[in-house]
Amino acid sequence: MSKRDYYEILGVSKDASKEEMKKAYRKLARKYHPDVNKEENAADKFKEAKEAYEVLGDEQKRAQYDQFGHSGPQGQGFGGGFGGAEDFGGFGDIFDMFFGGGRRRDPNAPRQGADLQYTMTLDFEEAIFGKESDVEIPKEESCDTCNGSGAKPGTSPKTCTHCNGSGQLNMEQNTPFGRVVNKRVCHHCQGSGKIIPEKCNTCGGAGTVNKRKKIHISIPAGIDEGQQIRVSGQGEPGVNGGPSGDLYVVIQVKPHEFYQREGDHIFCEMPITFAQAALGDEIQIPTVHGKVKLKVPAGTQTGKTFRLKGKGAPNVRGYGHGDQHVKIRVITPTNLNERQKELLRELNDISGDKATDEHEDSFFQRVKRAFKGE
Ligand SMILES: [Zn+2]
Ligand SMILES: [Zn+2]
Repeated sequence: MSKRDYYEILGVSKDASKEEMKKAYRKLARKYHPDVNKEENAADKFKEAKEAYEVLGDEQKRAQYDQFGHSGPQGQGFGGGFGGAEDFGGFGDIFDMFFGGGRRRDPNAPRQGADLQYTMTLDFEEAIFGKESDVEIPKEESCDTCNGSGAKPGTSPKTCTHCNGSGQLNMEQNTPFGRVVNKRVCHHCQGSGKIIPEKCNTCGGAGTVNKRKKIHISIPAGIDEGQQIRVSGQGEPGVNGGPSGDLYVVIQVKPHEFYQREGDHIFCEMPITFAQAALGDEIQIPTVHGKVKLKVPAGTQTGKTFRLKGKGAPNVRGYGHGDQHVKIRVITPTNLNERQKELLRELNDISGDKATDEHEDSFFQRVKRAFKGE
């Protein structure tokens, strides 16, 4: 027996929106769910609708279905175990899915505090060499006056009588297939399950106060832009005795006017004079580890790059150092005096068209040929 078209199963048009598709599936799911429909073919109808919705409700799968039909791309089908699986999901799950009714949560259960994020800006060198730093972080702390209960000392919170401490109220609804119970957050206690008759004066009943807390942070050498340091247990305090969250320090690095960094390697551009480039010279290169001598050979061109091994950033995991890459830029002299101009004219006269170097010669030849070809 050939499979029915998914659009036909859901009873929607080929250009139906996601919302229409969801509505159509919801209608079918309510009608055919085996928990409510005891007709013989209900389970099959339900499975059929579920399969159709799993494909059409997913943009990528829907596009593949539109293009390839039931066989899917390369005839592989849609996989994922539908069509045959006896997994209907509980009827309650269908309702959670459509009505947003969440799982029942015990407000008295211990919960971990929220994680905090703090952005730290470092100078270029600080990121290279690491740093010990004390930072002040604004964070919620458990209130000392009431020990976090929110109640005035000598009094204690009472169990909410409206929800009997569960933090949720049951809302009953009559539907065509019986009474459905929906859970809502209790508005008398805001879901905490407790009422505080006399509030703590320090925290106003919240149980927490905002404090600035000094935290020591060790920044490892070689850290880079966008990396994070996790400081365990320095997030917000836990609820009902649960553990604290963590603090995440996100690193930003200020740009440097001479160095650029890529991973463990440092890049820079070094200006040299025309004479240094032509005659060669030994020059001093600044590195984050101090000055380093570099021999520039005679006839060095702009763009030539030299590598200073091990003069980059240390690897943050301790795997050695990166290198510093020095790109040479030959500066054309400006504001020449008469004597300098005279010498350059003389140089030009004796050089003629022939440049000083074989490579340069071929470069000039190429330029010449380009002009002739016009
Ligand atoms: Zn309540
Ligand atoms: Zn308090």
